[in-house]
Amino acid sequence: MKSTIRNIILSADWTAKNLEKLLALRGDEQKELLKLGGDCLLKGRGNEVYYRGLVEFSNICTKDCFYCGIRKSNRNTARYDLSDDAVLEAARFAHEHRYGSLVLQAGERDDLVFVERIDQLLKKIKAATNGELGITLSLGEQTAETYRRWFESGAHRYLLRIETSDEMLYHQLHPNDDKHNFEKRLQCLKDLQKVGYQTGTGVMIGLPGQTLTHLAADLLFMKNFDIDMVGMGPYIEHEETPLYSEKNVLWPIQERFLISLNMVALLRLMMPDINIAATTAMQAIDPVGREKAMQAGANVIMPNITPSNQRRNYLLYQNKPCTDEGADDCSNCLSIRLEMIGRVPGYDQWGDSEHFFRRTKS
Ligand code: SAM
Ligand code: SF4
Repeated sequence: MKSTIRNIILSADWTAKNLEKLLALRGDEQKELLKLGGDCLLKGRGNEVYYRGLVEFSNICTKDCFYCGIRKSNRNTARYDLSDDAVLEAARFAHEHRYGSLVLQAGERDDLVFVERIDQLLKKIKAATNGELGITLSLGEQTAETYRRWFESGAHRYLLRIETSDEMLYHQLHPNDDKHNFEKRLQCLKDLQKVGYQTGTGVMIGLPGQTLTHLAADLLFMKNFDIDMVGMGPYIEHEETPLYSEKNVLWPIQERFLISLNMVALLRLMMPDINIAATTAMQAIDPVGREKAMQAGANVIMPNITPSNQRRNYLLYQNKPCTDEGADDCSNCLSIRLEMIGRVPGYDQWGDSEHFFRRTKS
């Protein structure tokens, strides 16, 4: 690695210009960057990888994001909403398999029936698992009051991707209405921090119109926002979405993957104490994509424990992996995969973000 690049990393000189340069690295220089990211994780946090059993409990969504396969206007997807019993069964599965935590994710709804249901569901999950299962929510934009209610009922982490930190690009990816508002999304992230959640965000990588300048700004956004956890990965097009028409201007899929790895490594170096997820979209591109992300500095994995008869309907993008497998298959294949890269599952642990405790101590 050229000494100037190494100097930037060792001196933590995270300017937008430097980050752009580092995001563009390929070949041996990239290998070294990824190794530095991985080493930074091992040195600071050890080799444990925390499991979050992912339950995609409903694909009913009131929003219309231009990139997403389960957007409201896609009439070619069968809609489902798992029963509370099915969600509880998945929670028990996670608990019994010592996953430590659960992520409840769904399309966005903010009606009272939904808010109340989640409230009750959180209490039921806590009761069914002796309060031992940590719960992360990923249910989109809600009022501060709803966030508070769910926090009090047992959720302690919340994932809300900003998608892109560039307001103009954000507007190109969403309908121009009150329901898809950049300022509101930002406000939600602030509300989540204020309520007391470990707050997660993230971006998609390789969106139409996105450049390395945008991605460098995204990294700085996450650092400046003092985010506790991050889930980011490549944008993958879906035929039934408006953004599909721009498929010809996209970076090649491998390029999106390589830049995603650089994003993970750089963020790890910039924020050594946060949690970073090795996302499913990485595996959609490369069969060992999640492992590569872990080797670059990711320390969280989200095994999909959604009942397999509904999994194929939570199709955010095409070629989403593991849509045919049951939760058991995923669990066995994951621990072997971790072993192969010298990582161990952090069984029975919530695996909280150390950054959160530092951020909230003062
Ligand atoms: N509805 C909630 C929300 O939007 O925050 C949570 C579920 S949503 C499906 C979770 C994430 O999926 C989004 O934040 C977005 O980044 C990601 N996603 C949607 N469509 C995608 C695509 N085509 N490629 C990659 N990621 C996608
Ligand atoms: Fe709905 Fe989330 Fe998809 Fe947007 S990204 S359409 S809010 S599920």
